[in-house]
Amino acid sequence: MPYCPVCFSDTMSLSPHGVIHLTINGKSKQSRQFLYNTTKETKEEIAQNLEAKIEEFMVWFSSFQNKEPIRNYQLFSADYRCENGCKTNKINRHSIIGELIAGDKVEEIIKRIAKKYNIDVKLDVTE
Ligand SMILES: [Zn+2]
Repeated sequence: MPYCPVCFSDTMSLSPHGVIHLTINGKSKQSRQFLYNTTKETKEEIAQNLEAKIEEFMVWFSSFQNKEPIRNYQLFSADYRCENGCKTNKINRHSIIGELIAGDKVEEIIKRIAKKYNIDVKLDVTE
């Protein structure tokens, strides 16, 4: 679990529902957001929602004149709360990889959909 900026314990856990942000190649302006709710959705359903967002990205990427390869991606959420009940005004954005979806699964989806749209994948940094 990520560290809390107030009590410095590794007690930041993800809320049962919230918003996931997806960026690819650091294009934060174009970040896609989608909701998750672990009380209603299975991990498989969350993966399917992610896949739909990744596909939106690929459609947009494939419209570029010079298609750059997919080099990195981030999946994060600000919906982390400290289990010790700390209050902070800071936005605590942390990766949801390993929490809601495995990194291997994300890469599998990215590679499969990129191939569909003829986009190269050369991942160097994954978070
Ligand atoms: Zn805390």
